[in-house]
Amino acid sequence: MISRREFIKTGGVLLASGLGGCRKAGVKQQAKAHVVVIGGGFGGATAAKYIRQLDDSIKVTLIEPKKHYITCPASNWVLGGLRGMASLTFSYQQLATHYGIDVIHDRVTVVDAERRRVEISRGDCLHYDRLIMAPGINFRWEEIEGYDADVSTYIPHAWQAGPQTLTLFNQVRAMPANGTIVISAPANPFRCPPGPYERASMLAYYCQQHKPQAKILIVDHKRGFSKQALFEQGWQLHYGYGTNQSLIEWQSIADNPVVSLAAKRKTLQTDFGDHIKADVLNIIPPQKAGAIAHQAGLTDDSGWCPVEPISCESVLRPAIHVIGDAAIQQPVPKSAFAANSEAKVCALAVVNLLNQQEPLKPAWINTCYSLITPRHGISVAMVYKLKSAGEIAPVEGAGGVSEHTDPQSLYLESRYALDWYDSITGDSFS
Ligand code: FAD
Repeated sequence: MISRREFIKTGGVLLASGLGGCRKAGVKQQAKAHVVVIGGGFGGATAAKYIRQLDDSIKVTLIEPKKHYITCPASNWVLGGLRGMASLTFSYQQLATHYGIDVIHDRVTVVDAERRRVEISRGDCLHYDRLIMAPGINFRWEEIEGYDADVSTYIPHAWQAGPQTLTLFNQVRAMPANGTIVISAPANPFRCPPGPYERASMLAYYCQQHKPQAKILIVDHKRGFSKQALFEQGWQLHYGYGTNQSLIEWQSIADNPVVSLAAKRKTLQTDFGDHIKADVLNIIPPQKAGAIAHQAGLTDDSGWCPVEPISCESVLRPAIHVIGDAAIQQPVPKSAFAANSEAKVCALAVVNLLNQQEPLKPAWINTCYSLITPRHGISVAMVYKLKSAGEIAPVEGAGGVSEHTDPQSLYLESRYALDWYDSITGDSFS
């Protein structure tokens, strides 16, 4: 078996020989095993950091186009008027200076799995020994005629936090006092299963204070949704849910999905020809893995990336690991918490593999908090284990949903939500 010292030397040879056709980038004299991470979100940032913590002889390069990452978690709180965008914004400074990660702000345009190298938009190439892909999501624009990336700048999905979050908030602020906000929620699987319903809650909280005659209609491509009983309980308590005066209405359109958009009229049309007119329209489109995962040949017919749970290694391309929303890790949901958890599983597996050791049997955790009002929080938590080589299963008796009804416990859940946000962003970005 090759020794670790020899392995590191060999890494240098690979690094020097695998390039051709594009400029070499970041090649150092002292060759080390090189892990490239694509995407500096919850998945990629955490994986990069933990690899360096586990074995600082491994060179880690993180490639992310944005200089500042804006978190989707807590972006619904902006819509409730509870937070500004600055408090959701993180830089990569700490990852670079404290953990010695090479951070390149650019977009990966090509993954060449055969030659184990990636090309970035300015034309440089980087060789890798292991590649970790965490590119998040892309949208299935083709599913709703008339809706695409350009239209989403003024009919926002706001499902990648940033300028669209503010566009949506500003549209709600500017709409008539008795206006209707329509949220189109996608079918499974999609990023953050409780997200559309927390969004409705936060918009209802805002409208209750500023536009109490308004209405929020959720048209849902599912027959039910995450934490439904807890959301509905909270909506009854605070927003008159189930009465004529309710601020929130939920309607399943699983049998009659939205098929097109008339953008100028802010009107959705369903398969059976029904029209749904809005003053403010928030379309959360159906989703798939980020574009670069498709280019790299990592996706299957579902549009997501199948992986070996034990190492997050792609079942389609060796030496490439996929984590976060882009990966199929069912029943683990697509959340920041899960991306962070998968990143740790992946980091440990990659370090072990680079040191000629077997990956360890992992466990995963997910918790999702949602706010119904600033003082009413709810949560769902679950622990998962490896059931067989390719299968993840929930651990019986672990986790569940918060079932409190007394105001003090609901208030405490809302505080835990804030604390969770601080600790997950701290763990991923500092
Ligand atoms: P991302 O965070 O999207 O990161 C992907 C990164 O990859 C991006 O920064 C992107 O720029 C980069 N990238 C893409 N393509 C390339 C390329 N070609 N080259 C280089 N870089 C690239 N989760 C929770 O756990 N709790 C919550 O309370 C919660 N609330 C949410 C609320 C909302 C409204 C939404 C929309 C989501 C929420 N989520 C929540 C889900 C969470 O945001 C995602 O699950 C999480 O961001 C997934 O992390 P990721 O690393 O897979 O993807």
